[in-house]
Amino acid sequence: ELILAIETSCDETSAAVIKDGTTILSNIVSSQIESHKRFGGVVPEIASRHHVEQITVIIEEAMQQANVEFADLSAVAVTEGPGLVGALLIGVNAAKSIAFAHDIPLIGVHHIAGHIYANQLVQPLLFPLMALVVSGGHTELVYMSEDGSFEIIGETRDDAVGEAYDKVARTLGLPYPGGPHIDRLAAEGKETIAFPRAWLEPDSYDFSFSGLKSSVINTLHNLKQRGEEMVIEDIAASFQASVIEVLVKKTKRATEEYGVKQLLLAGGVAANKGLRQALDEEFSTGEVELVIPPFSLCTDNAAMIGAAASVKWRKNQFSSYDLNGNPGLDLEQR
Ligand code: ATP
Ligand code: MG
Ligand code: FE
Repeated sequence: ELILAIETSCDETSAAVIKDGTTILSNIVSSQIESHKRFGGVVPEIASRHHVEQITVIIEEAMQQANVEFADLSAVAVTEGPGLVGALLIGVNAAKSIAFAHDIPLIGVHHIAGHIYANQLVQPLLFPLMALVVSGGHTELVYMSEDGSFEIIGETRDDAVGEAYDKVARTLGLPYPGGPHIDRLAAEGKETIAFPRAWLEPDSYDFSFSGLKSSVINTLHNLKQRGEEMVIEDIAASFQASVIEVLVKKTKRATEEYGVKQLLLAGGVAANKGLRQALDEEFSTGEVELVIPPFSLCTDNAAMIGAAASVKWRKNQFSSYDLNGNPGLDLEQR
């Protein structure tokens, strides 16, 4: 089976051709980061305009690189939500046009299902499994008893991890998106400040990062007021240590309680070197198999959407031409 997948939920315009849900024939990603950088975040209007300009070229490039014709396709898949509504619509309309013109099935995909299924491009999935989703807009522990079944057992009550990284980075004067910069600086620093860990109730798998974020901002403010020098590497290392300890411990407990075979890491923050290393160590016994996508499949891309769509294709879960961009799409209802 051959699926053309399209992703335009945020600030990456991407198209990919995926074979049998596991093999990447092409995965073209056009990032708009340069256009949003000077605003310190993604500007929805600018994002939509870029998607409009890029989408046709990116799809053509993906088809060419994969060396396939529209007539060869089994289906066309697209991110349906969540994301920026104007951005989603560009991808959804492109996918609908292709489905209609070539009379092939249309498959709407949940963006986070995509992040999770990026792991299927690395290794076959073994159920039951747990996925730790850490991205710009989501922080969730997702239990999957089987393909296509998602149960959110814990989630953030305030900021997503990526959001906390970006906000702390901004306070430190680092460019957007700040996650990779903090990651790099943290590797050069030491944990000199004991920032709080938000464990919440003992049995909770929920997360909270806004207290930590405020604590970092207050610390910076106090250092400045006292005229003391701040060692940016140490602040980054201290912040990252707090984030990672909570993520890793809660994830470990969840994999034990649910008796899963695999732990999948998913989302843009899965690119974080400190987090990858900490999980590697925690799951080194191999009792639970740890799967981590390569960097290129952690941040937004269409290949992951194609992988998730393959599951729906096998189950004949197609979308109608009523398909619309849905910013509030629910993962568990899929
Ligand atoms: P969502 O997937 O929830 O809709 P999104 O698509 O905007 O949100 P992603 O593209 O999955 O988010 O991830 C982007 C986020 O990942 C940004 O917040 C960015 O700072 C963060 N990020 C990327 N690389 C790293 C890294 N090495 N360390 C920490 N954070 C990182
Ligand atoms: Mg992005
Ligand atoms: Fe994403």
